[in-house]
Amino acid sequence: MRRRLEQFMQGRYGTDELTKFLMAICLILLLANTFTRQPLLYWLALVLIGYCYFRMFSRNISGRNEENQKYLSWTAGIRRSFTQTKNRIVQSKDYHIYKCPACGQKIRIPRGKGKICITCPKCRHEFEKRS
Ligand SMILES: [Zn+2]
Repeated sequence: MRRRLEQFMQGRYGTDELTKFLMAICLILLLANTFTRQPLLYWLALVLIGYCYFRMFSRNISGRNEENQKYLSWTAGIRRSFTQTKNRIVQSKDYHIYKCPACGQKIRIPRGKGKICITCPKCRHEFEKRS
């Protein structure tokens, strides 16, 4: 069974970031449909699933890859800000982020060191903060 599936998928495109994103949208639509009982959401989800399968089984690999690259470049800014927010939350446990009062440069200071003198790496301005 597994081998037959592998044979079937040979020379076909498979999944990528765009497909994963569209599948997530499908899930949200179906979930919204169970709450709102809005048939349009259900049909929209079905069409999207159909499109996902079309992309996965497509033999036009360069065409699908081009679509994925477009999706990635369109969403680069959003995905970067998501990653930055996630990193900030993870780091806020161990670090304080201070802004230099002179130039606005963000400076990362480890927590729990008491009152310290910080020198801005960009403009050499010195200021005191509690870490
Ligand atoms: Zn500065």
